[in-house]
Amino acid sequence: MAASGGVVRGAMAASEPSARAVAEEVVRWGSMKQTGVTLRYMMEFGSRPTERNLLLSAQFLQKELPIRFARRALELDSLPFGLSNKPAILKVRDWYLESFRDIRYFPEVRNRKDELAFTQMIKNVKVRHNNVVPTMALGVQQLKKQLCRKRKVPFGFDEIHEFLDRFYMSRIGIRMLIGQHVALHDPEPEPGVIGLINTRLSPIQVAQAASEDARSVCLREYGSAPDINIYGDPTFTFPYVSVHLHLMLFELVKNSLRAVQERYMNSDEDVPPIRIIVADGAEDVTIKVSDEGGGIPRSGLPKIFTYLYSTAKDPPDLDGRYDAAAMAGYGFGLPISRLYARYFGGDLQIISMEGYGTDAYLHLSRLGDSEEPLP
Ligand code: ADP
Ligand code: MG
Repeated sequence: MAASGGVVRGAMAASEPSARAVAEEVVRWGSMKQTGVTLRYMMEFGSRPTERNLLLSAQFLQKELPIRFARRALELDSLPFGLSNKPAILKVRDWYLESFRDIRYFPEVRNRKDELAFTQMIKNVKVRHNNVVPTMALGVQQLKKQLCRKRKVPFGFDEIHEFLDRFYMSRIGIRMLIGQHVALHDPEPEPGVIGLINTRLSPIQVAQAASEDARSVCLREYGSAPDINIYGDPTFTFPYVSVHLHLMLFELVKNSLRAVQERYMNSDEDVPPIRIIVADGAEDVTIKVSDEGGGIPRSGLPKIFTYLYSTAKDPPDLDGRYDAAAMAGYGFGLPISRLYARYFGGDLQIISMEGYGTDAYLHLSRLGDSEEPLP
């Protein structure tokens, strides 16, 4: 069990239970089977947030979350190219171990009082993991620099890329489970809202909000921002997680704004607006973000879904904190958005016409019955 060595060391820092016991537990739980849920299941279950159901939900999480945290802690320990030993990655690994311990060794949840304490605890766990994405990126960036300095072609970087996809996908799932459980405790939910799920989400409304947010980032960055026109049925709604959709559209619109802005910044021509089109199909809701920002060269297309690939001129500093309001530069926008789309059975595709513009197709599954991908 090559992977457990580092886990022993990581767990050593903490006091009781003994580090060895925790390390053995991590290995044991890390080999258990994860249980996936669907959007529809979360919605149906959450529509009756009775004390009994919240208790059942907490009991499920107390069993499920340690499995998910343990798997990631073990994987963080066995990455190629010495990535596991980079300080930033060790830090993330320790967060996973701490969260594993907090949940695994929390007294069995038996009544309302236990359940409320458990909920507070997992709320804190979620906060602990807030900066996981930029901290991981920092570690990967350090490795990338080191490999390029040594003139080793980052051969096999695909392996790291696949790991990051699995890792971030798992993180989306963990945060959805915790977030949903915590949100079900809201004593006065808005009508139609079940935890994090809006059963009557209007994609047009979310597109408007995300567009406004992205335009204000663009205004701050460039002093002006192209217009955005949104087309589709304003009365159409479907069940989805608003924060996920907002995040994806915000990233796509920022990319389009940047492309159009940079192309037309120093020209007298009329700036062509960005167009967002919402289509409600039987299977999918598809949202197209269409721009005339010049497109992406075909040779660049294979790279746009990789982490840390960006054509932004001054990438912002990666100091372990992620400035969500940055216009561009981290190179996470597309890969992370695609993971969010796939998490509930959707997908994201980018079609480019170099010399003209780019269309991003965001497909969201309407049925809500696809099970979480469980890396
Ligand atoms: P970032 O925006 O931080 O650079 P992304 O993952 O969002 O990272 O995008 C990666 C790269 O893909 C961008 O740097 C840009 O080169 C290219 N790209 C994405 N969307 C567009 C678009 N609509 N038009 C032109 N290029 C784009
Ligand atoms: Mg971007």
